[in-house]
Amino acid sequence: ATMPPLLSAIANAGRHGVLVKSAVVMERLGQVDTVALDKTGTLTEGTPRLTAIRPLAGSGLDQEALLRLAAAAEHPSEHPLGRAVVDAARDRRTEAPTVRDFTATPGVGVTATLDGATITVGAPARLPTALDDADAAAHAARTVDELEGSGHTAVLVQRDGVPVGVLGIADRLRPDATATITALGHLTGATPMLLTGDNPTTAARLAAEVGITDVRAGLLPQEKVTAVRNAQETGRKVLVVGDGVNDAPALAAAHTGIAMGRAGSDLALETADAVIVRDELAAVPTVVALSRRARRLVV
Ligand code: ADP
Ligand code: MG
Repeated sequence: ATMPPLLSAIANAGRHGVLVKSAVVMERLGQVDTVALDKTGTLTEGTPRLTAIRPLAGSGLDQEALLRLAAAAEHPSEHPLGRAVVDAARDRRTEAPTVRDFTATPGVGVTATLDGATITVGAPARLPTALDDADAAAHAARTVDELEGSGHTAVLVQRDGVPVGVLGIADRLRPDATATITALGHLTGATPMLLTGDNPTTAARLAAEVGITDVRAGLLPQEKVTAVRNAQETGRKVLVVGDGVNDAPALAAAHTGIAMGRAGSDLALETADAVIVRDELAAVPTVVALSRRARRLVV
């Protein structure tokens, strides 16, 4: 027997490095008219590197001590930013002590206890700060602004709610990001949206580089869902592409969800309808086109 078109399309997608989980998914991929992409790990390579270590005045920490503290708290983290911190400590042979009570809050950061103190590492705009010294608060804010203004993701480190330092982390754009955005624009007739938990400055800078004009930054995982639902309520069929635990709810809410496989979190891979196994973002427009061709043969 000849293979039904949707099944041969699945085989074809596999040859392009995409695992499509069912014939229904293969069909739905061709129905999408709107694409929403995550930033960190999706448009970017997802292997960010720590490039700045700024202890705050009054913290009593030098660069090494700040890095040790942050790496200890991030040690159990599976977030790319957490791995950047841990890798930097390892590269500098900075031994990070073992923490207790680790918790990760998607889109916010991590918390752990060390020697009776609570260490938090995460988004400066999302961590509650217990700082009554206005000068110190201004210094922390200036450091964050300066790092974000130069294209970094700034991550705040706090001890018992008091800012002790800021880390600058930078990620590279995927080599096929711009071509993928252009191809998706041609396929759907609209440029994709960028949905990110990162700060607006870093997000806008990167969006401009790849040709995205619809940027939604500073989003919590549930706010990514709202962005997808709002678009779908106006009759659009949204394809979400993401990699993180923070993307899983949006991947589930989308008409179709694709996860980046190599660095993707287990939850994203399980929730998504398809997985890019070979780590090429350009496979997204390829599978949409494959689906459209197969659907023309089905009907
Ligand atoms: P994106 O949507 O771009 O993939 P996330 O939603 O995963 O980003 O994260 C949003 C923001 O939350 C990050 O830019 C960072 O400030 C903060 N954050 C999340 N997880 C961590 C972590 N493990 N360590 C430090 N910061 C974190
Ligand atoms: Mg991500």
